[in-house]
Formats: sequence, C-alpha cells, structure tokens
Amino acid sequence: MTEVDLLIVGAGPTGLYAAYYAGFRDLTTAIVDSLPEPGGQVTAMYPEKMIFDVAGFPAVKGRDLVSALVEQADQWKPTYLLGRRAQTLSQVDGRFIVDLDGGVTVSAGAVLISAGIGEFTPRPLTAGDGWLGRGMVHFVPALDVHRDQDVVIVGGGDSAFDWALALHPIATSVTIVHRRAKFRAMPATVRQVTNLGVRIITDAEVTEMIGDDESLRQVTLSVKGEDAPVVLPAQAVVAALGFTADLGPIEAWGLEIDHRSISVDSTMQTARPLVYAAGDVAAYPGKVKLIATGFGEAATAVNNIAVALNPEAHLFPGHSSAAE
Ligand SMILES: Cc1cc2nc3c(=O)[nH]c(=O)nc-3n(C[C@H](O)[C@H](O)[C@H](O)COP(=O)(O)OP(=O)(O)OC[C@H]3O[C@@H](n4cnc5c(N)ncnc54)[C@H](O)[C@@H]3O)c2cc1C
Repeated sequence: MTEVDLLIVGAGPTGLYAAYYAGFRDLTTAIVDSLPEPGGQVTAMYPEKMIFDVAGFPAVKGRDLVSALVEQADQWKPTYLLGRRAQTLSQVDGRFIVDLDGGVTVSAGAVLISAGIGEFTPRPLTAGDGWLGRGMVHFVPALDVHRDQDVVIVGGGDSAFDWALALHPIATSVTIVHRRAKFRAMPATVRQVTNLGVRIITDAEVTEMIGDDESLRQVTLSVKGEDAPVVLPAQAVVAALGFTADLGPIEAWGLEIDHRSISVDSTMQTARPLVYAAGDVAAYPGKVKLIATGFGEAATAVNNIAVALNPEAHLFPGHSSAAE
C-alpha cells in the first residue's frame, strides 16, 4: 500500500504541476496515470508540436514542456504509478483508498483528479493484433528508438504526419499508409511531409505484420487497384489511428459529472469533500480548457488541499522565490 498526503489522478500538465506544488506545500504525493509516460494529451497526441501560449515560453515543444514539468515536480520526489488506471475510490477511517489495476492500492488524505478528457484508448489496427510492444506502438515517447529503422506510419491525421516529420531525419525510411485518398491532417503539414519525399501510400490497408518473437521485419499492404500485395520492410509500425477518451471508473466516484466534466467550486473541490479536480476535467461557468488554465487551477486546488488537511496551514503558500 502506498501512503501519501495527496493522490493525483492523471499525469498530464495539470497533474505534474500539482505534484510540484504539493511538494512545495510539504505534502507527499503519488501520481497515477494509465499511460506509460507522463504528459497526458501533450505526450500522446502532439509531443513534437510547438505550443505558443504557455506563460513564460514564447514557443515550447510539447515534449520539452513535459520534460520541464517532470523536472520541476521531481524536486519533491513524487511516487509515479504509471501504466496504471485508478479504478475505485472508497473511504476508510477518514482516508481515501484508491485501487489501481494491477493490485496496487493507494491510501491518501485527499485526492486531486486531473484526468483531462479521460483515459485514452488507442483505436486498434486489426493487423497489429499481438504486435503491441513488439514492433507496433500507438505513440512515440522517445524518437531515438526509431533511429535507423524502416518505419511505417498508419493513419491520415495530424499525429501521423507529425510523427513522419519528426522521424524522417533519423529513420532509414518513413512511409505513411492511409486507407483513404484524403487526409484529416492540416494541409500545410501534408505539404511539408510530401516535400520531404516521404512515401505516402493511399487507399491502402495493412493486412499482415510479419517477423519473429523478438522483432518485426515487414508489413503487407492491400492497395486499391493493385493486384498483388505490396510488401514494405518495417522494424516499426506507428498505428496513429487516434484515440477514444473516457472517464471510465471515475464516473462511479460519487461526483457531479456532466459531459465528462466534474463540477467544482472556487476552491476546485468537487461535490465530495477532500476530492478536488483541476485541468480539462474540472468544470465551472466560464471554464476555458487550456494548459495555462490547468496550471492555475492546480495551484488553487493544492493550496486549498493543504489547508483542508491541516487547518493551521495558511492558504497563501508564500512566494517560491523566498524559499532560497
Ligand atoms: C492536438 C492538440 C493540441 C493542443 N494544443 C494546445 C495548445 O497549443 N495550448 C494549450 O493550452 N492547450 C492545447 N491543447 C489542450 C491541452 O493539451 C490540454 O488542455 C491539456 O493537456 C490538459 O491537461 P490535463 O493535465 O488537465 O489533462 P490531460 O493532458 O488530458 O491528462 C490527463 C491524464 O489523466 C489520465 N487518466 C485519465 N483517467 C485516468 C484514470 N482513471 N486512471 C489513471 N489515469 C487516468 C490520462 O491517461 C491522461 O494522461 C491541445 C490539445 C490537443 C489534442
């Protein structure tokens, strides 16, 4: 059993910043996420994109923002429980007990839900059944893994084209395979990828992935208008077919939830005492879902949690610049 002052559910930008702030307030924290990497939507959907509206950064790459947030939070050594979904919330003797899948249990004095738009489930690539982690991925946490590989990217949206741009300089070859002739990705990105000479095969579907236990060697495509299957060398397939998102088990935690958003008051507390919400998942009149908003809400939530856990504590944390 992991015992902490504060359990943070969701390691997106909001949860990571909350972990920093909780440490600054002398609270011990655990941070759980069903994804194997921190960063939430930024890591899963746009790590290579520049973000222009985070205070203090005229422009910051998604991946770099997440690294900086992790570094900032790590000063206080939060316990990361990644690749685990928060399932149930109960209360025993005034403490929250949260069961994660995989048999892990966390006991916490308070809970902050920063679950964003919910847990992501990648849309499956049928031919990739059984290949996840053996050559197939749904997103690319570290580009360098694909250095000198033949990479096949499946999909026609922004993610597929962003991965192509990012992987082209380091991979041996990059091929985009899309089942339609039209793309959902931004035309400017499609143009950029086309101009780089990335091979794009449209009206095509991956029908088989071939390799051995250890690694993938090639993929077979069925292409409209071609009699014979097309075979491509591939040590990696990025199945960028998008994600569905769902609050899942959190819906049953006894909170006020409407359209995947949890109602909170001005302290970010939900309908359940000592359970707070911040970031994309938190709702109140006039809410704007942005990274910047989540940061402010995380600070408000954690400072109020500090007082709720210790009524002698001050709501105002003092200035971090005075800490040295
Ligand atoms: C393509 C794209 C571009 C964007 N560009 C910008 C931009 O330029 N500027 C900007 O401000 N915003 C942008 N956004 C929005 C921004 O990414 C979100 O506002 C931000 O990610 C919200 O952060 P969050 O931490 O609240 O939630 P998320 O980033 O959604 O993180 C929530 C995390 O909670 C986890 N989770 C959910 N349920 C559970 C559970 N039961 N157990 C365990 N883990 C769980 C999820 O796996 C996820 O990792 C963009 C979004 C997209 C999709």
